Amino acid sequence: MSDTLDTNLSRANNYLARFRDTTTPHLINGDFTLGDSGETFDNTTPTDNSPIGTIAKGSVTDMDAACTAADAAFNDWCDMPGAERRKLLHAFADRLVERADEIALVESMDCGQAIRFMKQAAVRGAANFRFFADKAPEAQNGLALHQAEHTNFTVRRAIGPVGIITPWNTPFMLATWKIAPALAAGCTVVHKPAELSPLSAHLLAEIAAEVLPKGVWNTVHGFGETAGKRLTEHPAIRAVALVGESATGAHVTRQGADTLKRMHLELGGKNPVIVFDDADFERALDAVVFMIYSLNGQRCTSSSRLLLQRGIRDKFLTALEARVKNLRVGHPLDPNTEVGPLVHTEHCEKVMSYMDIAREDGATVAVGGERVTGDDQGVSAAGNYVQPTLFTQADNSMRIAREEIFGPVLTAIDFDTEEDAIRLANDTEYGLAGYIWTENTGRAMRLAKHVEAGMLWVNSENNRNLPSPFGGVKMSGIGRDGGDWSFDFYMETKNVCVAHGTHRVPVLGK
Ligand code: NAD
Repeated sequence: MSDTLDTNLSRANNYLARFRDTTTPHLINGDFTLGDSGETFDNTTPTDNSPIGTIAKGSVTDMDAACTAADAAFNDWCDMPGAERRKLLHAFADRLVERADEIALVESMDCGQAIRFMKQAAVRGAANFRFFADKAPEAQNGLALHQAEHTNFTVRRAIGPVGIITPWNTPFMLATWKIAPALAAGCTVVHKPAELSPLSAHLLAEIAAEVLPKGVWNTVHGFGETAGKRLTEHPAIRAVALVGESATGAHVTRQGADTLKRMHLELGGKNPVIVFDDADFERALDAVVFMIYSLNGQRCTSSSRLLLQRGIRDKFLTALEARVKNLRVGHPLDPNTEVGPLVHTEHCEKVMSYMDIAREDGATVAVGGERVTGDDQGVSAAGNYVQPTLFTQADNSMRIAREEIFGPVLTAIDFDTEEDAIRLANDTEYGLAGYIWTENTGRAMRLAKHVEAGMLWVNSENNRNLPSPFGGVKMSGIGRDGGDWSFDFYMETKNVCVAHGTHRVPVLGK
């Protein structure tokens, strides 16, 4: 039987029943606990803002207990033979695949992402665990550097217990991206999931409790200013990897300063997609639509600024408007839905506020601009649905071109020359990703050099390759994920210099 909204909803409700009935706990030192205070906060689904249970609200005491547990578990985990860590991480991946249906449906209901994009989430998360699991046996190997009378060799050892702080958009995927390499390196982990979409973090914690030694993976739910802040300040925690807003990146850097935390920050973006006159029109159009309207535009690498060369501007905008009008907004569990509800009422109001800001600044709302309040795709008027929106007649000084809106909202801006395109692309405080569409290889190479971003894609949407580095520059962050770049962050390198005994030691005081 093929999936429909009704069959998906029925399965999702079965999975959600236990979240509705019992408070979702922390995982601290192998035990599920409601924490020190027993306080909770409410969790809702963006489909209609109805409650889907309560979540334990982590206190400073809870966070201290989790950090202490991660610290106590560290030496055994780090010194466990890499081949054993490999086995356990593959077992973790196996369990992700077995629970793929649950993970996809719970995630969609919790954060509003359309099921068509969540279906493969667990399989991709498992692939991520397997990729790093296979690196575990060699992860701590170093280099030997021979000199005439000495040999230097390096050993890599996991840095220690680490804090992982994740945001509400695609929370499952981002947690696996961060935690898999940390565990493979030999770090123990305290995870602080986002308060707006905490459920998939609990599914991960359940698998961790089954598969890993106690204390290796701890999860403390709660708010940034209490549980999150304490995690960044705790002396046992050696490094913090945060995915979140740029302002949060600055906060955690300050909070971690007294304990000299190593920080990896994956932050916001206002990413340009630059379409030149000579671009492959249809493929560029597909990519422009996909990279802002998929995942509800709640995606750090979304191309939220469309820079269009004047020669194809009119033709491209006409085709784009038709595609945007045609996007299917609907219940996230409807397999036909392309754009689901935004994560929370407050975020929805923030996104909607840009409709007025655009008009006040002189842009045109060419498509969309309104809330969606009910049609035949399971949309509830009480949900956080927004029409996919396209702003035209915009320039790069407008707030809609400068601020991260983080919704299904695209701002189109014209340019004339290659130099203009580079200047506009770089005229932003952010520098996460960029997309270049041209058939001219020389031009693509020049832009690859001059566009300020951690990642550029030429004639492609954001194809992700796990061994390749992922991360941003400027206000989009510090550090890189992926392959050995992840290990560089989660490891310390120690140099050991051994004398061969043939050289003369300088003699003093003899
Ligand atoms: P956010 O910054 O509000 O929250 C992220 C996490 O940080 C949450 O778990 C939150 O509780 C925690 N937090 C908040 N204040 C804290 C503090 N003072 N100390 C410790 N922790 C604190 O971000 P969000 O609204 O959940 O997510 C959306 C943002 O994430 C967007 O800006 C988006 O671009 C960014 N993002 C970036 C990437 C990337 O790879 N660069 C990926 C996904 C999302």
